[in-house]
Amino acid sequence: MNIHEYQAKELLAEHGIAVPKGIAAMTVEEAVAAAKQLPGPLYVVKAQIHAGGRGKGKFKELDANAKGGVRLAQSIDEVEHAAKEMLGNTLVTAQTGDEGKQVNRLYVTDGVDIAHEYYLSLLVDRASGQVAMVVSTEGGMDIEAVAHDTPEKIHTITIDPAQGFMPHHGRAVAFALELSGDTNKQCQKLAGQLYEAFMALDVEMLEINPLVETKDGDLLVLDTKMSFDGNALYRHKNVEAMRDETEEDPAEVEASEYDLAYIKLDGNIGCMVNGAGLAMATMDIIKLNGAFPANFLDVGGGATKEKVTAAFKIILKDDAVEGILVNIFGGIMKCDIIADGIVSAAKDVNLSVPLVVRLEGTNVEKGKEILENSGLPIVSADDLGDAARKIVAEVKKAA
Ligand code: GDP
Ligand code: MG
Repeated sequence: MNIHEYQAKELLAEHGIAVPKGIAAMTVEEAVAAAKQLPGPLYVVKAQIHAGGRGKGKFKELDANAKGGVRLAQSIDEVEHAAKEMLGNTLVTAQTGDEGKQVNRLYVTDGVDIAHEYYLSLLVDRASGQVAMVVSTEGGMDIEAVAHDTPEKIHTITIDPAQGFMPHHGRAVAFALELSGDTNKQCQKLAGQLYEAFMALDVEMLEINPLVETKDGDLLVLDTKMSFDGNALYRHKNVEAMRDETEEDPAEVEASEYDLAYIKLDGNIGCMVNGAGLAMATMDIIKLNGAFPANFLDVGGGATKEKVTAAFKIILKDDAVEGILVNIFGGIMKCDIIADGIVSAAKDVNLSVPLVVRLEGTNVEKGKEILENSGLPIVSADDLGDAARKIVAEVKKAA
Protein backbone atom coordinates (compact mmCIF):
# COMPACT_ATOMS: atom_id res chain seq x y z
CA MET A 1 0.00 0.00 0.00
CA ASN A 2 1.20 3.48 -0.84
CA ILE A 3 0.60 6.66 1.15
CA HIS A 4 0.97 10.36 0.40
CA GLU A 5 4.12 12.38 1.02
CA TYR A 6 2.57 14.37 3.88
CA GLN A 7 1.50 11.17 5.63
CA ALA A 8 4.93 9.60 5.22
CA LYS A 9 6.53 12.71 6.69
CA GLU A 10 4.15 12.52 9.66
CA LEU A 11 5.32 8.96 10.31
CA LEU A 12 8.98 9.92 9.96
CA ALA A 13 8.52 12.89 12.31
CA GLU A 14 7.03 10.49 14.89
CA HIS A 15 10.36 8.66 14.72
CA GLY A 16 12.25 11.83 15.48
CA ILE A 17 13.33 12.51 11.88
CA ALA A 18 13.61 16.14 10.71
CA VAL A 19 11.15 17.20 8.00
CA PRO A 20 10.15 20.73 6.89
CA LYS A 21 7.03 22.11 8.57
CA GLY A 22 3.93 21.55 6.46
CA ILE A 23 0.14 21.29 6.49
CA ALA A 24 -2.13 19.30 4.16
CA ALA A 25 -4.99 21.10 2.39
CA MET A 26 -8.02 19.91 0.42
CA THR A 27 -9.23 23.36 -0.74
CA VAL A 28 -7.73 26.67 -1.83
CA GLU A 29 -8.93 28.27 1.44
CA GLU A 30 -7.23 25.55 3.46
CA ALA A 31 -4.02 26.05 1.49
CA VAL A 32 -4.05 29.78 2.24
CA ALA A 33 -4.82 29.15 5.92
CA ALA A 34 -1.96 26.62 6.02
CA ALA A 35 0.51 29.09 4.55
CA LYS A 36 -0.50 31.69 7.15
CA GLN A 37 0.54 29.27 9.87
CA LEU A 38 3.99 28.80 8.37
CA PRO A 39 6.87 31.21 8.98
CA GLY A 40 7.40 32.19 5.31
CA PRO A 41 8.52 34.08 3.27
CA LEU A 42 9.22 31.03 1.06
CA TYR A 43 6.52 28.35 0.72
CA VAL A 44 6.21 25.20 -1.37
CA VAL A 45 2.85 23.96 -2.65
CA LYS A 46 3.01 20.26 -3.49
CA ALA A 47 0.46 18.10 -5.29
CA GLN A 48 -0.28 14.98 -3.26
CA ILE A 49 -0.71 12.03 -5.60
CA HIS A 50 0.59 8.48 -5.37
CA ALA A 51 3.24 9.04 -8.01
CA GLY A 52 6.65 10.65 -8.22
CA GLY A 53 8.11 13.08 -10.74
CA ARG A 54 5.63 15.78 -9.75
CA GLY A 55 8.11 18.62 -10.12
CA LYS A 56 8.66 17.84 -13.79
CA GLY A 57 5.01 16.92 -14.34
CA LYS A 58 2.50 18.80 -16.52
CA PHE A 59 -1.15 19.59 -15.92
CA LYS A 60 -3.49 18.46 -18.67
CA GLU A 61 -5.77 21.47 -18.21
CA LEU A 62 -3.00 24.10 -18.16
CA ASP A 63 -0.87 25.22 -21.06
CA ALA A 64 2.48 23.57 -21.68
CA ASN A 65 4.51 26.41 -20.13
CA ALA A 66 2.67 26.21 -16.79
CA LYS A 67 4.67 24.92 -13.84
CA GLY A 68 4.39 21.34 -12.55
CA GLY A 69 3.13 19.78 -9.33
CA VAL A 70 5.76 21.28 -6.98
CA ARG A 71 5.60 25.10 -6.85
CA LEU A 72 7.80 27.49 -4.94
CA ALA A 73 5.77 30.48 -3.73
CA GLN A 74 7.18 33.78 -2.43
CA SER A 75 3.94 35.02 -0.86
CA ILE A 76 0.51 33.92 0.38
CA ASP A 77 -0.94 35.22 -2.91
CA GLU A 78 1.36 32.94 -4.87
CA VAL A 79 0.33 30.02 -2.66
CA GLU A 80 -3.30 30.81 -3.47
CA HIS A 81 -2.56 31.01 -7.20
CA ALA A 82 -0.68 27.68 -7.16
CA ALA A 83 -3.48 25.99 -5.21
CA LYS A 84 -6.09 27.25 -7.69
CA GLU A 85 -4.08 25.94 -10.63
CA MET A 86 -3.50 22.53 -9.13
CA LEU A 87 -6.60 21.42 -7.22
CA GLY A 88 -9.02 19.40 -9.32
CA ASN A 89 -6.67 19.30 -12.29
CA THR A 90 -4.87 16.30 -13.75
CA LEU A 91 -1.15 15.95 -13.25
CA VAL A 92 0.75 13.81 -15.74
CA THR A 93 4.22 12.67 -14.64
CA ALA A 94 6.68 10.01 -15.82
CA GLN A 95 5.08 7.68 -13.27
CA THR A 96 1.33 8.28 -13.77
CA GLY A 97 0.92 7.09 -17.35
CA ASP A 98 -0.73 9.28 -19.99
CA GLU A 99 -4.04 9.44 -18.14
CA GLY A 100 -2.42 11.27 -15.22
CA LYS A 101 -3.84 11.64 -11.73
CA GLN A 102 -6.33 14.17 -10.42
CA VAL A 103 -4.91 16.36 -7.65
CA ASN A 104 -7.31 16.35 -4.70
CA ARG A 105 -4.90 17.23 -1.90
CA LEU A 106 -2.05 19.65 -1.51
CA TYR A 107 0.76 19.89 0.99
CA VAL A 108 1.84 23.42 1.83
CA THR A 109 5.32 23.43 3.34
CA ASP A 110 7.94 25.75 4.63
CA GLY A 111 10.39 26.56 1.79
CA VAL A 112 13.93 25.35 2.39
CA ASP A 113 17.18 27.00 1.27
CA ILE A 114 18.92 24.08 -0.40
CA ALA A 115 22.72 23.70 -0.52
CA HIS A 116 22.76 20.15 -1.91
CA GLU A 117 20.29 17.40 -2.87
CA TYR A 118 21.11 13.78 -1.96
CA TYR A 119 19.35 10.49 -2.59
CA LEU A 120 18.67 7.89 0.11
CA SER A 121 16.32 4.92 0.01
CA LEU A 122 15.70 1.73 1.95
CA LEU A 123 14.20 -1.40 0.52
CA VAL A 124 13.95 -5.11 1.09
CA ASP A 125 16.62 -6.73 -1.07
CA ARG A 126 15.20 -10.15 -1.84
CA ALA A 127 18.42 -11.40 -3.41
CA SER A 128 20.44 -11.00 -0.21
CA GLY A 129 17.53 -11.28 2.22
CA GLN A 130 18.71 -8.03 3.78
CA VAL A 131 17.69 -4.40 3.96
CA ALA A 132 19.48 -2.32 1.34
CA MET A 133 20.22 1.34 1.90
CA VAL A 134 20.81 2.93 -1.50
CA VAL A 135 22.46 6.35 -1.51
CA SER A 136 23.86 8.87 -3.94
CA THR A 137 25.37 12.34 -3.81
CA GLU A 138 23.42 13.11 -7.00
CA GLY A 139 19.87 13.32 -5.64
CA GLY A 140 16.99 15.34 -7.06
CA MET A 141 14.79 15.11 -10.08
CA ASP A 142 17.27 13.33 -12.35
CA ILE A 143 18.09 10.29 -10.22
CA GLU A 144 16.89 7.88 -12.93
CA ALA A 145 19.39 9.39 -15.38
CA VAL A 146 22.16 9.16 -12.75
CA ALA A 147 21.40 5.46 -12.23
CA HIS A 148 21.41 4.90 -15.99
CA ASP A 149 24.41 7.00 -17.06
CA THR A 150 26.68 6.92 -14.01
CA PRO A 151 25.76 3.84 -11.95
CA GLU A 152 29.05 4.18 -10.04
CA LYS A 153 27.52 7.17 -8.27
CA ILE A 154 24.92 4.93 -6.62
CA HIS A 155 26.10 3.11 -3.48
CA THR A 156 24.39 0.27 -1.66
CA ILE A 157 24.94 -0.53 2.01
CA THR A 158 23.23 -3.72 3.17
CA ILE A 159 22.06 -4.37 6.70
CA ASP A 160 21.45 -7.85 8.03
CA PRO A 161 18.15 -7.66 9.94
CA ALA A 162 19.34 -10.40 12.29
CA GLN A 163 22.20 -8.15 13.37
CA GLY A 164 20.40 -4.83 13.04
CA PHE A 165 21.76 -1.37 12.30
CA MET A 166 25.34 -0.90 13.56
CA PRO A 167 27.38 2.31 13.84
CA HIS A 168 29.55 1.18 10.91
CA HIS A 169 26.49 1.20 8.64
CA GLY A 170 25.88 4.83 9.57
CA ARG A 171 29.52 5.71 8.87
CA ALA A 172 29.36 3.93 5.50
CA VAL A 173 26.27 5.91 4.48
CA ALA A 174 27.78 9.26 5.54
CA PHE A 175 31.03 8.36 3.76
CA ALA A 176 29.23 7.43 0.54
CA LEU A 177 27.45 10.80 0.68
CA GLU A 178 30.86 12.50 1.15
CA LEU A 179 29.70 14.39 4.23
CA SER A 180 31.98 15.92 6.81
CA GLY A 181 31.80 17.54 10.23
CA ASP A 182 28.47 17.90 11.95
CA THR A 183 26.50 17.04 8.78
CA ASN A 184 28.31 13.69 8.70
CA LYS A 185 27.26 13.04 12.32
CA GLN A 186 23.67 14.01 11.54
CA CYS A 187 23.67 11.61 8.63
CA GLN A 188 24.84 8.67 10.74
CA LYS A 189 22.09 9.32 13.24
CA LEU A 190 19.47 9.79 10.51
CA ALA A 191 20.43 6.50 8.80
CA GLY A 192 19.83 4.66 12.09
CA GLN A 193 16.50 6.39 12.66
CA LEU A 194 15.36 5.57 9.14
CA TYR A 195 16.30 1.92 9.55
CA GLU A 196 14.43 1.80 12.84
CA ALA A 197 11.28 3.38 11.30
CA PHE A 198 11.56 1.06 8.27
CA MET A 199 11.56 -2.05 10.46
CA ALA A 200 9.03 -0.84 13.04
CA LEU A 201 6.40 0.02 10.41
CA ASP A 202 6.94 -3.00 8.10
CA VAL A 203 7.84 -0.68 5.26
CA GLU A 204 8.51 -2.22 1.86
CA MET A 205 10.19 0.80 0.34
CA LEU A 206 11.18 4.17 1.77
CA GLU A 207 12.64 6.65 -0.68
CA ILE A 208 13.94 10.07 0.20
CA ASN A 209 14.66 12.15 -2.86
CA PRO A 210 15.90 14.65 -2.19
CA LEU A 211 17.43 14.46 1.22
CA VAL A 212 18.78 18.00 1.44
CA GLU A 213 21.58 19.76 3.18
CA THR A 214 20.42 23.25 4.03
CA LYS A 215 22.61 26.35 3.77
CA ASP A 216 23.10 25.95 7.56
CA GLY A 217 24.47 22.42 7.13
CA ASP A 218 21.36 20.63 8.44
CA LEU A 219 19.94 17.49 6.84
CA LEU A 220 16.22 17.52 6.04
CA VAL A 221 13.89 15.03 4.38
CA LEU A 222 12.45 17.19 1.59
CA ASP A 223 10.51 14.55 -0.31
CA THR A 224 9.63 11.00 0.60
CA LYS A 225 7.68 8.07 -0.74
CA MET A 226 6.71 5.10 1.38
CA SER A 227 5.02 1.82 0.56
CA PHE A 228 4.01 -0.88 2.99
CA ASP A 229 3.72 -4.63 3.07
CA GLY A 230 -0.05 -5.17 2.78
CA ASN A 231 0.17 -8.43 4.72
CA ALA A 232 1.54 -6.58 7.77
CA LEU A 233 -0.98 -3.72 7.78
CA TYR A 234 -3.10 -5.36 10.48
CA ARG A 235 -0.23 -4.56 12.85
CA HIS A 236 -0.33 -0.84 12.00
CA LYS A 237 -3.84 0.56 12.25
CA ASN A 238 -2.51 4.12 12.01
CA VAL A 239 -0.86 3.31 8.67
CA GLU A 240 -3.90 1.41 7.40
CA ALA A 241 -6.01 4.50 8.15
CA MET A 242 -3.80 6.47 5.73
CA ARG A 243 -5.06 4.48 2.75
CA ASP A 244 -6.46 6.78 0.06
CA GLU A 245 -8.73 4.66 -2.09
CA THR A 246 -9.24 7.46 -4.61
CA GLU A 247 -5.63 6.86 -5.65
CA GLU A 248 -6.22 3.18 -6.38
CA ASP A 249 -7.88 1.41 -9.29
CA PRO A 250 -11.62 1.23 -8.38
CA ALA A 251 -11.90 -2.39 -9.50
CA GLU A 252 -8.92 -3.34 -7.32
CA VAL A 253 -10.49 -1.57 -4.33
CA GLU A 254 -13.77 -3.43 -4.85
CA ALA A 255 -11.91 -6.73 -5.24
CA SER A 256 -10.07 -6.20 -1.97
CA GLU A 257 -13.41 -5.73 -0.22
CA TYR A 258 -14.31 -9.28 -1.29
CA ASP A 259 -10.83 -10.55 -0.45
CA LEU A 260 -10.12 -11.26 -4.12
CA ALA A 261 -6.62 -10.89 -5.50
CA TYR A 262 -7.31 -8.85 -8.65
CA ILE A 263 -4.92 -6.87 -10.78
CA LYS A 264 -6.08 -5.11 -13.92
CA LEU A 265 -4.02 -5.72 -17.06
CA ASP A 266 -4.21 -4.46 -20.64
CA GLY A 267 -5.60 -7.42 -22.58
CA ASN A 268 -9.10 -8.45 -23.66
CA ILE A 269 -9.58 -11.89 -22.06
CA GLY A 270 -10.89 -11.76 -18.51
CA CYS A 271 -9.69 -14.58 -16.27
CA MET A 272 -11.19 -16.07 -13.15
CA VAL A 273 -8.99 -18.69 -11.57
CA ASN A 274 -8.42 -20.26 -8.18
CA GLY A 275 -4.85 -20.25 -6.93
CA ALA A 276 -2.14 -17.77 -7.83
CA GLY A 277 -0.03 -20.39 -9.61
CA LEU A 278 -2.90 -21.57 -11.77
CA ALA A 279 -3.82 -17.94 -12.49
CA MET A 280 -0.28 -17.25 -13.71
CA ALA A 281 -0.33 -20.40 -15.85
CA THR A 282 -3.69 -19.37 -17.31
CA MET A 283 -2.35 -15.95 -18.29
CA ASP A 284 0.69 -17.61 -19.89
CA ILE A 285 -1.40 -20.01 -21.92
CA ILE A 286 -3.69 -17.22 -23.14
CA LYS A 287 -0.60 -15.41 -24.43
CA LEU A 288 0.70 -18.62 -25.94
CA ASN A 289 -2.51 -18.71 -27.98
CA GLY A 290 -1.95 -15.20 -29.28
CA ALA A 291 -4.23 -13.16 -26.99
CA PHE A 292 -3.67 -11.09 -23.85
CA PRO A 293 -5.21 -11.43 -20.36
CA ALA A 294 -7.35 -8.50 -19.14
CA ASN A 295 -6.58 -9.24 -15.53
CA PHE A 296 -5.06 -11.47 -12.92
CA LEU A 297 -7.74 -12.81 -10.61
CA ASP A 298 -7.31 -15.40 -7.91
CA VAL A 299 -10.62 -16.16 -6.19
CA GLY A 300 -8.79 -18.16 -3.54
CA GLY A 301 -9.17 -21.70 -2.28
CA GLY A 302 -12.40 -21.38 -0.32
CA ALA A 303 -14.45 -18.96 -2.39
CA THR A 304 -18.22 -18.81 -1.88
CA LYS A 305 -20.92 -18.32 -4.50
CA GLU A 306 -21.11 -14.64 -3.47
CA LYS A 307 -17.38 -14.25 -4.03
CA VAL A 308 -17.55 -15.83 -7.49
CA THR A 309 -20.45 -13.53 -8.41
CA ALA A 310 -18.48 -10.49 -7.23
CA ALA A 311 -15.43 -11.65 -9.19
CA PHE A 312 -17.52 -12.01 -12.29
CA LYS A 313 -18.95 -8.53 -11.99
CA ILE A 314 -15.53 -7.00 -11.40
CA ILE A 315 -14.14 -8.66 -14.54
CA LEU A 316 -17.07 -7.43 -16.62
CA LYS A 317 -16.73 -3.84 -15.46
CA ASP A 318 -13.63 -3.61 -17.64
CA ASP A 319 -14.85 -2.44 -21.07
CA ALA A 320 -11.86 -4.04 -22.75
CA VAL A 321 -13.02 -7.55 -21.82
CA GLU A 322 -14.26 -9.40 -24.93
CA GLY A 323 -14.39 -12.87 -23.46
CA ILE A 324 -13.98 -14.66 -20.14
CA LEU A 325 -12.04 -17.76 -19.28
CA VAL A 326 -12.89 -19.47 -16.01
CA ASN A 327 -10.30 -22.00 -14.93
CA ILE A 328 -11.06 -23.71 -11.65
CA PHE A 329 -9.53 -26.68 -9.98
CA GLY A 330 -12.05 -27.82 -7.41
CA GLY A 331 -10.12 -29.03 -4.43
CA ILE A 332 -11.31 -27.29 -1.29
CA MET A 333 -13.78 -25.47 -3.52
CA LYS A 334 -16.28 -27.77 -5.19
CA CYS A 335 -17.02 -27.53 -8.92
CA ASP A 336 -20.80 -27.49 -8.46
CA ILE A 337 -20.57 -24.45 -6.15
CA ILE A 338 -18.45 -22.66 -8.73
CA ALA A 339 -20.86 -23.62 -11.50
CA ASP A 340 -23.75 -22.23 -9.45
CA GLY A 341 -21.88 -18.98 -8.94
CA ILE A 342 -21.00 -18.70 -12.61
CA VAL A 343 -24.57 -19.31 -13.76
CA SER A 344 -26.12 -16.88 -11.28
CA ALA A 345 -23.54 -14.20 -12.02
CA ALA A 346 -23.89 -14.63 -15.79
CA LYS A 347 -27.67 -14.23 -15.45
CA ASP A 348 -27.26 -11.29 -13.07
CA VAL A 349 -25.04 -9.29 -15.42
CA ASN A 350 -26.73 -10.32 -18.68
CA LEU A 351 -23.50 -11.76 -19.98
CA SER A 352 -22.82 -10.43 -23.45
CA VAL A 353 -19.34 -11.83 -24.11
CA PRO A 354 -18.29 -15.44 -24.78
CA LEU A 355 -17.57 -17.53 -21.70
CA VAL A 356 -15.38 -20.61 -21.63
CA VAL A 357 -15.27 -22.66 -18.45
CA ARG A 358 -12.77 -25.31 -17.55
CA LEU A 359 -13.66 -27.18 -14.39
CA GLU A 360 -11.70 -30.03 -12.88
CA GLY A 361 -11.71 -31.76 -9.52
CA THR A 362 -14.29 -32.44 -6.83
CA ASN A 363 -17.87 -32.79 -8.15
CA VAL A 364 -16.77 -31.92 -11.69
CA GLU A 365 -19.62 -33.90 -13.32
CA LYS A 366 -22.20 -32.12 -11.19
CA GLY A 367 -20.62 -28.79 -12.09
CA LYS A 368 -20.66 -29.48 -15.84
CA GLU A 369 -24.28 -30.56 -15.60
CA ILE A 370 -25.24 -27.27 -13.97
CA LEU A 371 -23.48 -25.32 -16.74
CA GLU A 372 -25.11 -27.40 -19.49
CA ASN A 373 -28.60 -27.08 -18.04
CA SER A 374 -28.28 -23.36 -17.44
CA GLY A 375 -29.57 -22.40 -20.87
CA LEU A 376 -26.61 -20.01 -21.18
CA PRO A 377 -24.14 -20.13 -24.10
CA ILE A 378 -21.30 -21.38 -21.92
CA VAL A 379 -18.56 -23.31 -23.69
CA SER A 380 -17.08 -26.15 -21.67
CA ALA A 381 -13.40 -27.05 -21.97
CA ASP A 382 -11.57 -30.16 -20.87
CA ASP A 383 -8.11 -28.90 -20.03
CA LEU A 384 -6.07 -25.71 -19.85
CA GLY A 385 -4.85 -25.76 -23.46
CA ASP A 386 -8.29 -26.57 -24.81
CA ALA A 387 -9.80 -23.74 -22.73
CA ALA A 388 -7.32 -21.14 -23.97
CA ARG A 389 -7.76 -22.16 -27.61
CA LYS A 390 -11.53 -22.05 -27.26
CA ILE A 391 -11.74 -18.60 -25.64
CA VAL A 392 -9.36 -17.08 -28.20
CA ALA A 393 -11.41 -18.61 -31.03
CA GLU A 394 -14.71 -17.48 -29.48
CA VAL A 395 -13.47 -13.89 -29.12
CA LYS A 396 -12.28 -13.86 -32.75
CA LYS A 397 -15.63 -15.25 -33.88
CA ALA A 398 -17.54 -12.60 -31.91
CA ALA A 399 -15.42 -9.81 -33.40
P1 GDP B 1 9.01 15.19 -7.05
O1 GDP B 1 9.27 15.96 -8.30
O2 GDP B 1 7.68 14.51 -7.07
O3 GDP B 1 10.10 14.24 -6.71
O4 GDP B 1 8.89 16.29 -5.86
P2 GDP B 1 9.99 16.86 -4.84
O5 GDP B 1 9.33 17.10 -3.55
O6 GDP B 1 11.19 15.99 -4.81
O7 GDP B 1 10.35 18.28 -5.46
C1 GDP B 1 10.99 18.40 -6.69
C2 GDP B 1 12.10 19.41 -6.60
O8 GDP B 1 11.58 20.66 -6.19
C3 GDP B 1 13.17 19.07 -5.58
O9 GDP B 1 14.13 18.19 -6.10
C4 GDP B 1 13.74 20.45 -5.28
O10 GDP B 1 14.73 20.78 -6.24
C5 GDP B 1 12.55 21.37 -5.46
N1 GDP B 1 12.01 21.74 -4.13
C6 GDP B 1 11.11 21.08 -3.40
N2 GDP B 1 10.93 21.65 -2.19
C7 GDP B 1 11.76 22.73 -2.17
C8 GDP B 1 12.07 23.73 -1.19
O11 GDP B 1 11.56 23.78 -0.08
N3 GDP B 1 12.99 24.69 -1.54
C9 GDP B 1 13.61 24.69 -2.76
N4 GDP B 1 14.49 25.62 -3.01
N5 GDP B 1 13.36 23.74 -3.68
C10 GDP B 1 12.45 22.77 -3.40
MG1 MG C 1 11.35 13.92 -5.23
